[in-house]
Amino acid sequence: MQQSSIKNYEFETGVYRPPSEGGSASLFLRMTRNCPWNHCTFCAMYKSEKFELRNPEDIIQNINVMHDIYLQLKEISLKQGQAGIFSNQTFSQFLKKTPELYFHQGISMLFNWLAVEGKTVFLQDADSLIMKTDHMIQVLKHLKTTFPTIQRITSYSRSRTIVRKPEADLEKIRKAGLDRLHIELATGDAALLKKVKKGATPEDHVKGGQKAMKAGFQVSEYWMPGLGGKTLSKDHALNTAQILHQINPHYIRSRPFTPRPGTILYEKASRNELERMTPKEQLLEIRQTLEPLNITSRVCFDHAGNHWTAPDGRLLLSQSYEGYQFPEEKENLLGLIEKGIGHYS
Ligand code: SF4
Repeated sequence: MQQSSIKNYEFETGVYRPPSEGGSASLFLRMTRNCPWNHCTFCAMYKSEKFELRNPEDIIQNINVMHDIYLQLKEISLKQGQAGIFSNQTFSQFLKKTPELYFHQGISMLFNWLAVEGKTVFLQDADSLIMKTDHMIQVLKHLKTTFPTIQRITSYSRSRTIVRKPEADLEKIRKAGLDRLHIELATGDAALLKKVKKGATPEDHVKGGQKAMKAGFQVSEYWMPGLGGKTLSKDHALNTAQILHQINPHYIRSRPFTPRPGTILYEKASRNELERMTPKEQLLEIRQTLEPLNITSRVCFDHAGNHWTAPDGRLLLSQSYEGYQFPEEKENLLGLIEKGIGHYS
């Protein structure tokens, strides 16, 4: 085997992915760089970074590089008598031959993904559907052909982008292999959406969510308990419930509001200008959001921000990625929330 140059091993990965996307077992494939909107006042993820589309040829080249690494690992594994299975020994042997990759930010991710037989992929960064449809399909087809072990491909997107995409294009993208969309709803309240500069109206959220569902995607909608503080809590809860009810997505995921360094809301919090909610008030708001829901979604609290504890000191709500199935587990979930409200009284 020949030792390759640094240039041959260039592939790009971003930083962020949803916790539910397989942890270290997902391949990160960067389709665009950063966020094309980047104005949400609660979000610090891509704040200082400029949005860029990537050429499909460059993304395809990245896929080819990763596949080349895969072939080399396989050869090493066979030589080591490990029948093509990848172990730590296989990876160390490979890195000895290609020390230039030792500090590559994506190499551990790629090793982990290959070690678990390469099943799930997350397309980065904040809104892959903003790519031209043809470009996206070109990349998806190449990805699936190159790594036939892939079973699921997922991505972030924005409601406004989905609204703008023709239905036929969404269906083509779905058929080309993109399975799941993660959408940051934040709130269904029009005034609060405007206040936090979400770049979407309640109508955009409903239309975007419904279009994604109709095109056959698995849809995860993220909502942010506590985003409106005490003053807007009731409107936030009831209007979010209305929107979620109309979309009835596969997953609803709770991401309680916390001021993040680097955001306008963090600066306000530092100056004591932000109305914060107590754990009990957050739970009261969540109860108000969930009570009216007549849906068949799974409601999930799969993030450390869902920190409430039960009287016995354990976590109040399950942080499983699959959460609570509605309507079957709705009463059970509301009962747990009630218990938490009592605990914090
Ligand atoms: S659209 Fe998403 S990634 Fe972009 S600023 Fe808003 S929350 Fe952050």
